[in-house]
Amino acid sequence: MTPIGIMSAMHEELAAVLQALPDEQRVQVAGRDFWQGHWHGRPVVAVLSRIGKVAAATTATALIERFGVGQIVFTGVAGGLGSGVKVGDVVLARSLVQHDMDASPLFPRHEVPLYGRSRFDTDPGLSDALQRASQEVLVDVAPHVGFEAIAEFGLQSPRLHEGLIASGDRFVSTTAECRSLQQTLPEALAVEMEGAAVAQVCADYGVPFAALRTISDRADDDAHADFSRFIRQVASRYSVAMLSQWLKTP
Ligand code: SAH
Repeated sequence: MTPIGIMSAMHEELAAVLQALPDEQRVQVAGRDFWQGHWHGRPVVAVLSRIGKVAAATTATALIERFGVGQIVFTGVAGGLGSGVKVGDVVLARSLVQHDMDASPLFPRHEVPLYGRSRFDTDPGLSDALQRASQEVLVDVAPHVGFEAIAEFGLQSPRLHEGLIASGDRFVSTTAECRSLQQTLPEALAVEMEGAAVAQVCADYGVPFAALRTISDRADDDAHADFSRFIRQVASRYSVAMLSQWLKTP
């Protein structure tokens, strides 16, 4: 069976994924630790993506070239941009764009030179399967995160959103920058730092790709909030529950 690549953006998330693998073995490539193992009997390779587009692209390339993964699923956190996309919601990418790509006037803004496009779509079948798994988890998150986290982070009735995610090499944490992104990419639901790069690598290799992001902040002046606590208590638990739900479904 071809292994599935699982990329996590943060250490806490990878640690939670590794707890679900009974038999992981570490292999080091390009200064990264890749963890080969099984989850619900399916071969997986789990790895920390590292932060930023170049680091994530290198990690994705190694997953494909060295580990022969047949699909890649990315989980992480993101800042909410779309109206109604609030902390504790989940965004499933249907396409991704690099918001900081700008080779104008040679190419239109956001277009990746020589690709003739600015957006990279995720795989519809893989994304549909993850959508079903995520919906199942979001119906009742209490078993996964506990009532304390629901109260602390205001996770009443978290929603799943689907659409465009914008990626770039900036942690967006001012209201001014957030507004400017909302103006230039009005359909973008969320902003993060890796997804569009991995989508481009997967498009190059013809490897199906999907991305799920839990909203950790609103990419505004309050976006400095206690990140690691949110990731530990909420995002990593959502990710593991959603991935597990997906992998155990035949
Ligand atoms: N302050 C954090 C920085 C983590 S970098 C820390 O001390 O650890 C942010 C990570 O979360 C990246 O993987 C990125 O993809 C995602 N992310 C979450 N919110 C974001 C935002 N508002 N802007 C950009 N990336 C964001």
